[in-house]
Amino acid sequence: MGLKIVFLSYSIDKNTPAYGNGDSIRIDQIKKIENGDSCNASLWHLPNHLGTHVDAPKHFFQKGPSIDFYTPDFWIFQNISLAHVSCDRNRLIDAKDLMPFLSMDTELLLVKKEPAVLRGCRKYWEENYGLSPDVGYELRSRYKRLRVIGVDSISISSWQNRMVGQEAHRTLLDPDSTGNPILLIEDMDLSVIHENTIINKVIILPLRIKEADGAPCSIIAEVQEDEE
Ligand SMILES: [Zn+2]
Repeated sequence: MGLKIVFLSYSIDKNTPAYGNGDSIRIDQIKKIENGDSCNASLWHLPNHLGTHVDAPKHFFQKGPSIDFYTPDFWIFQNISLAHVSCDRNRLIDAKDLMPFLSMDTELLLVKKEPAVLRGCRKYWEENYGLSPDVGYELRSRYKRLRVIGVDSISISSWQNRMVGQEAHRTLLDPDSTGNPILLIEDMDLSVIHENTIINKVIILPLRIKEADGAPCSIIAEVQEDEE
């Protein structure tokens, strides 16, 4: 049973899909060795909710903690639960869909849709699955150690159910309601995770921009395949 280190985040390029078909990254090359400059350097115009990224409470609450508020240990997870959901397009995932996969120790819940939607196609942002607001109410009060939910959907807001999606963000991120806010990772790459994958450890590293309400992140995991 071999251990492997894998990425659970995508790299970003100009084809990275954006929620609601919004802006992607724009890269201006400001120095070019090819042009006789001493080095290569670029200027990035990077939406902070593009690609695999973290939503902090400040995304929906003016006084909520921002990305830089969290200590390094917050971002390391040893108790990880994986929920496989099979759902139609635009579907909302409820707390009852997720609870069978959770334990009282769960720190990080990963939600993987089967079958996956091809990320390059329009459906990926236009017909994405979302979470329903009861996920925040139910999971925050029951699972006190749960700090982050990561999804392989472009957002926890289903594009076709945007008002409900905003409410879902609020119930999860509200710094003042029961339990702790549950931060969100959207647009995760869970393609390397299978039914029999055991995830030992996950490290999430958002870009630490001061006061950021969200930030692109790299995520690495130590996994092993159960050969049964
Ligand atoms: Zn976001």
